[in-house]
Amino acid sequence: MNRVDARRQSTDYASLIRSLDLAAKVRLLTGASAFTLAPEPSIGLGELRLSDGPTGVRGLKFSGGRTVALFPNATLLASSWNTENLYEAGHLLAEEALAQQIHVVLGPTINLHRSPLGGRLFEAYSEDPLLTGKLAAGYVRGMQAARVGACLKHLVANESETDRNSMNSVVDESTLRELYLLPFEIAIAESDPWSVMAAYNDVNGVAATEQTHVNTEIVKGEWSYSGLIMSDWFATKTAAPAANGGLDLVMPGPAGPWGTALVAAVKDGEVAESVIDDHLVRLLRLADRVGVLGTERDYPADLPAPDSAVRARQLTRLAAEGMTVLTNRDAVLPLAETRQVALIGRHAIETIGMGGGSAQVNPPYQVSIAEALSARLGGTLTVADGVEVRTRPVPARPDFVSDPETGAPGVRFTLLDADGTVIEERTGASGSTVVGIDDEFDSVVRTIRISARAGVSGPIEFGAMGVGQWRLTAGDHHESLTLTATGSSIGEEVLAPPTRTVPATVREGDVLEATVTLPGADEGFDGIGKFALLARTAPTDADVTIARAAEAARSADVAVVVVGLTEEQETEAVDKTTLSLPGRQDDLVAAVAAAAPRTVVVVNAATPILMPWLAEVDAVLWAGLPGQESGHAVTAALLGDIEPSGRLVTTFPAADGASPAWSVTPVEGQLHYSEGTFIGYRGHYAGRAPAPAFWFGHGLGYTTWEYGTPELVADGPAARAVRVTITNTGVRAGREVVQLYFEPATADQPIRLVGWAAAMVGPGESATVEVETDRRMWRHWDSAAGGWSDLPDAGRLVVARGLGDIRGAITL
Ligand code: BGC
Repeated sequence: MNRVDARRQSTDYASLIRSLDLAAKVRLLTGASAFTLAPEPSIGLGELRLSDGPTGVRGLKFSGGRTVALFPNATLLASSWNTENLYEAGHLLAEEALAQQIHVVLGPTINLHRSPLGGRLFEAYSEDPLLTGKLAAGYVRGMQAARVGACLKHLVANESETDRNSMNSVVDESTLRELYLLPFEIAIAESDPWSVMAAYNDVNGVAATEQTHVNTEIVKGEWSYSGLIMSDWFATKTAAPAANGGLDLVMPGPAGPWGTALVAAVKDGEVAESVIDDHLVRLLRLADRVGVLGTERDYPADLPAPDSAVRARQLTRLAAEGMTVLTNRDAVLPLAETRQVALIGRHAIETIGMGGGSAQVNPPYQVSIAEALSARLGGTLTVADGVEVRTRPVPARPDFVSDPETGAPGVRFTLLDADGTVIEERTGASGSTVVGIDDEFDSVVRTIRISARAGVSGPIEFGAMGVGQWRLTAGDHHESLTLTATGSSIGEEVLAPPTRTVPATVREGDVLEATVTLPGADEGFDGIGKFALLARTAPTDADVTIARAAEAARSADVAVVVVGLTEEQETEAVDKTTLSLPGRQDDLVAAVAAAAPRTVVVVNAATPILMPWLAEVDAVLWAGLPGQESGHAVTAALLGDIEPSGRLVTTFPAADGASPAWSVTPVEGQLHYSEGTFIGYRGHYAGRAPAPAFWFGHGLGYTTWEYGTPELVADGPAARAVRVTITNTGVRAGREVVQLYFEPATADQPIRLVGWAAAMVGPGESATVEVETDRRMWRHWDSAAGGWSDLPDAGRLVVARGLGDIRGAITL
């Protein structure tokens, strides 16, 4: 028993709780601010601090806070199929948290990739519940080993964003248990996460924050979960039903639906005081686990800074190892260094390191592919911009503008109160700021002035982002704008703030300025918003850009075209409508492929895209959203310094709609999960959707593999394993992921991943790999009987490198 467990057992939470009156107890069950919980000195409870994850620990402020390390996104980490990588990521995130005295990091996100249209899939691991659960357990173990709490989110059936605050996911009990609850079940059993977050949506007509069935009966009951369930931000709608429905903590605060309403509900006998006490026990247990109950927590000194060399190495490796070689004709990859390379594409120059929404952080830097590859290849590389990839304008980038006072890259923010007194002034590299609920200022921000010095001359696109009355100046151009929110969903002023741009012409050195007066609460402003000055070079005609790119490609040995999505598609709060690349990127790739002797496409996106040019290009490297070390990681993968040994965590459909679950638009508020457990590869394999472009589990790495005949080494559902010998038939060492699927004999049960194991093998060498099956994949939920039963031992065990490349099978 470690020190924490010993103290936990000796602490009598009940006696601490007895010393509090009802109002004091209830006060603790709602956050004290956006990301903190109320301390209670009388019982030794310190302030517990939370921060968003899962791709960095943003801290207590939405922006303008300390810079923090930006990690590779969840699908990229997961594509390693390596629980040790996830352990490492969790541990490093815990270090990032401790450096800011944060106790709980809000992640991992373990909802499944049901439809590829889900806007938030970039934050979640996979379409497969076993892979998701096992990887999440690795991450949680790594994080909690440093005494920082993890938070599994979002419980449950929260696979898409459309109408997320009001929609009802309609999911039958077997599907809920066998698929969507399973990652939570696995992670809880194997890593004991200290908190869980209840989702925004309803599940079968009951709000996730009021789900007695899920929260109390299953999670806390059947699974004996001892941790705390908090609400997603502003998700709690009621007092008694939520408190009785297993929700322990309302976030954020201090306002919220509990407070006096919950005190009254207890007094009226609607909620038993013992229910309140159980919520408090869980809260105190969490505080105890993270070291803020009865003790002053020590925080380690000398943790690596977000911009340290050690972080750079760690983040580069974690990103590069997950990158996935989808095709590689004539082994064009890894690139030979002596070749003349034409690097093309907007994503090469403005590489996307993260998705949008609450997972966004403020990193110290983000290395683009163009920067890193130029540094490495020098004169053998030319760089050409690609076509426009966004429909909405973006905040002025630090390579385009500088702070007029300090000359530092980025814009200058000046925040003023109602009297015009300056509250804060700073340079912002990201070009945008969020003000509102996380303000730590004594006075209220009423005016934001954003100024910048233009770094180029010529026609620009110029404007503002954020709700309010704007005055704009660019050189001698002046403009006034009023921007208002367009919808009414929670957090919209931050997640999808209004924007407008106008054309202007500037000379290098001109000062650009945008000043906004924030509306008051009486004008409908709910107190939080994102604000930015928008400025960039006026877009070039796409035909001209494509012709220039083809020209650059023609004179090189190899063209590397980087294409992808942006935070317009991969974001919280919004779903996609198509898997096609935005803008004219497909035309760009086709033109380059027609001109270049060899074409390699790098996909800078976290989730499936369509590739109409697939047959025309020589190689495709899927690179995910690689974080602050994006450029270095892609360079390492392209040149083979690190093998991109990823295997897909989600199936890439061949066309829009060609997926077993597609629509994410609720009809009259209802989203039916009518495909049951046949999502992703399970549905494709069963013929419920056309063959995909790339299967879940696919990934070539940089070598080739031969498989021997698989044998069963242990039998029976409790202990079943398969042994197979693999031989590396290529010329480079490589990591192979041996995947084992169970294909039940009955057609009403889908094929499913039941285990995997990996081996690093040198060229020409062999290794024998044993894959254990997970018994949880051998059950089905019998709704009539209300319990689990084992699947019959009939069917096939399939050994595959993704179901498009089956290497052996054992008939049971
Ligand atoms: C998201 C959560 C996040 C929370 C706090 C919500 O909008 O759904 O994942 O942790 O905000 O920022």
